[in-house]
Amino acid sequence: AKAEGKGTFRMFEPAMAERMQARSRLEADLRRALGAGEFELHFQPLVDVRTGAVTAAEALVRWRHPEQGLVSPADFIPLAEETGLIMPLGAWVLRTACLQAVSWPREIKVAVNLSPVQFRDDRLPETVAETLRATGLEADRLELEITEGVLLDDEERTLMMLTKLRATGVGLAMDDFGTGYSSLSYLRRFPFSKIKIDRSFVRLLPDDAESAAIVRAIIAMGAGLGMATTVEGVETAEQYAFVAAERCGQVQGYHVSRPLPGTAFLGFLGDLEAA
Ligand code: C2E
Ligand code: CA
Ligand code: CA
Ligand code: CA
Repeated sequence: AKAEGKGTFRMFEPAMAERMQARSRLEADLRRALGAGEFELHFQPLVDVRTGAVTAAEALVRWRHPEQGLVSPADFIPLAEETGLIMPLGAWVLRTACLQAVSWPREIKVAVNLSPVQFRDDRLPETVAETLRATGLEADRLELEITEGVLLDDEERTLMMLTKLRATGVGLAMDDFGTGYSSLSYLRRFPFSKIKIDRSFVRLLPDDAESAAIVRAIIAMGAGLGMATTVEGVETAEQYAFVAAERCGQVQGYHVSRPLPGTAFLGFLGDLEAA
């Protein structure tokens, strides 16, 4: 009513209020979902290019919503981060990924994505160590995936955090490599054990000369630094052949498999072993 004087106000207000309402509904829904156990992990295999064997799996969270079906992380992780709900959700993801990995028939690694909010918590290394103890997973079977956006502005604190995490025995993968501004210097400064080449560099392979040159260079650099390299987003046989010929370490992507629910992932492991 007080907006009577300004026409723009009247047009703006309802849309804004609606958006805020939708947001708080989603927030309440997220909170409820955590208690109701509506989240699940899907696992996407990482294959060793030399042997063709599955050597690791990335845990990817999904929300099995009672009305909306399977909701992808892009639709709820940002709000979970803004509201702090990512802390209990992230802890659940970490614990569940470790528990599942303990139950797998072979000692393959499990990779878990970290949110910047989790990384800002000084207790993270202790939380990781405690989760390993509680679940019984050997530390070298856990890999934490960290994008450049996760790292803190304070380089000293970042280095201390990454060093403490490494000291627990887990691996640290630099995720979405090549998409940030400082990726190269980070590799030298911080104790990462693996590079994951972002799928934007893979999309136009093998025909695009620039993409080919970049992927080739990153793999060579990883080898020079003694780091494992995983190529993400490999969708075709041609892309697989290209990165295998360049001797990357591992391949991840729809060409090998989409992310799979726990039991389907076990089936995939079994199928591959039988083949
Ligand atoms: P990401 O860490 O880069 O994960 C890889 C994403 O690429 C996954 O999407 C995966 O399904 C997709 N992908 C894999 N292979 C291919 C392919 O060959 N082609 C294409 N087009 N896509 C492929 P998803 O599962 O929707 O996850 C999206 C993002 O959400 C992840 O990107 C990650 O940043 C975030 N995320 C997922 N799970 C978690 C989690 O538990 N915690 C946190 N903090 N973030 C998560
Ligand atoms: Ca990842
Ligand atoms: Ca990635
Ligand atoms: Ca990504």
